[in-house]
Amino acid sequence: MDTMRAVVVLAAGERPRRGRVPAPVPGPHQALVRVTRTAACASAVRAAAARPEGPRAFPLVPGHGGHGPVVALGPGVTGVRIGDELGSTWVASACGTCALCLTGHESLCPAVAVTGVTVHGSWADLMLVDTRYAARVPGGCDPVAAAAVLSGGVSAVRALRSTGAQAGQWLVVSGIGDVGHQAVQHAVARGVRVVAVDDDEGRLALARKHGAELTVNAAAQDASREVRTRTDGGAHAALLTGAAPDVRDALALVRPGGTLTLTGVPAGTLPLGVPALVGRGLTVRGATPGDRRDAVEALDLLARGVVEPTVTVRPFDAVESALADLEAGAVEGSLVLDLSD
Ligand SMILES: [Zn+2]
Ligand SMILES: [Zn+2]
Repeated sequence: MDTMRAVVVLAAGERPRRGRVPAPVPGPHQALVRVTRTAACASAVRAAAARPEGPRAFPLVPGHGGHGPVVALGPGVTGVRIGDELGSTWVASACGTCALCLTGHESLCPAVAVTGVTVHGSWADLMLVDTRYAARVPGGCDPVAAAAVLSGGVSAVRALRSTGAQAGQWLVVSGIGDVGHQAVQHAVARGVRVVAVDDDEGRLALARKHGAELTVNAAAQDASREVRTRTDGGAHAALLTGAAPDVRDALALVRPGGTLTLTGVPAGTLPLGVPALVGRGLTVRGATPGDRRDAVEALDLLARGVVEPTVTVRPFDAVESALADLEAGAVEGSLVLDLSD
């Protein structure tokens, strides 16, 4: 039996480690992709190691946001050929017919298969994708950037849409990591004025590089008060990513009528004072990781040079130290593993 390099999680709660697993064989509607680059994000690590909510095949290969050329096709595939560049996102497949699928919420479908969580993911030399759900990477995209976009960029596009922020309005982006720094770029590209909040000066510098108009260091200042002062009463919307330094006071970032969107899983708790929530007419939303529509939008903006993520690249064989750095917050921008050697 052919085997391949892979990162595996041996059982629920275990840490990901390198190993070898059998090479997969494509089934109906599937393509086998030779992964050349893959994103590695905190959500992938957390979700793969979490207690299983549904059926899982341990040892599980975690990870999404991988891409590369198609090297084999299963039965029933249409519109995809050997050599096409396909990528995986959070949603591996869904039923395609339920009310949630039909209203743009594929990741909430009761039958959703999640890449690297309920089906094997992209941290391996080869991966299977459902050709009906896989992302097509446009020609000319930088392969490293494309991996970062397939993970954090897709989430950033989804979350930004959830904020409802319009051109000319203020948007707080709190937590300038993988998703956050890409959300800054997407917001700026749409004419939204960005206030970046983080507790790390390096991350705030990254936000400025990508077009943030104002930056607030939450370690040195009362972030909510500073945002309210500098945006004339609060931002129109705020987006808290998984890297956000403080969730507790987040409602105070936005002005009356404003929207607070959370994506990833920011640490801490968000107390909802009901009278304040109602009296100030606020909206609080959770943004899902994004699906096919978001991937098309994010990859198109990359292909046209509108956005360009900042990426930390590590060789696949150094995945353990790369994940340790990710956990320690020592990765600039998005983390991508290189398997092209
Ligand atoms: Zn469905
Ligand atoms: Zn991700």
